[in-house]
Amino acid sequence: MGKYDLYQLVQLPRFSGGEREVTVYFDGLSCLERVEAKRRIYPYTVYSEKEFSEALLDWFLRGKGITWPPHSVERGLIRKAHFCPQCGKQVDKVETKTMKLDARIDSARIPPFDIGVEVPGVMCLSCGLSQVLADPAKDTVLNFEVRVAMILALNNAGITP
Ligand SMILES: [Zn+2]
Repeated sequence: MGKYDLYQLVQLPRFSGGEREVTVYFDGLSCLERVEAKRRIYPYTVYSEKEFSEALLDWFLRGKGITWPPHSVERGLIRKAHFCPQCGKQVDKVETKTMKLDARIDSARIPPFDIGVEVPGVMCLSCGLSQVLADPAKDTVLNFEVRVAMILALNNAGITP
């Protein structure tokens, strides 16, 4: 018997995971499911676990799959603050509202699926520009929270490495 004889390919309905103000969801992710045991994520057959999480971050945080909306620019060494990219006014004291980003991931290596993230956003009180309150160019708390939320989402769906 081959290695995957006990598994069948299934496409999972939407599932999500959250960490603080960040929620990540997957919709239509394919995985190999073993009836009497834990699920195995399908991309593991073509990606190692580390490759898959790196690919998710590429699609997501590094802008290869998602076009980021305008986002704040983080400046400051000791006291970090966020500024509007359009007018330069400080924006991190404004009340946050959830912003949604989503994308269809269409990679040659796995069946297409949708992935989305909900992150805190603000509207600049000076010029009115809506923006994500996070600077994807920096290794911020948000990036960490997105990673944790991704892992929690996969765990919630019974997908374990
Ligand atoms: Zn502004």
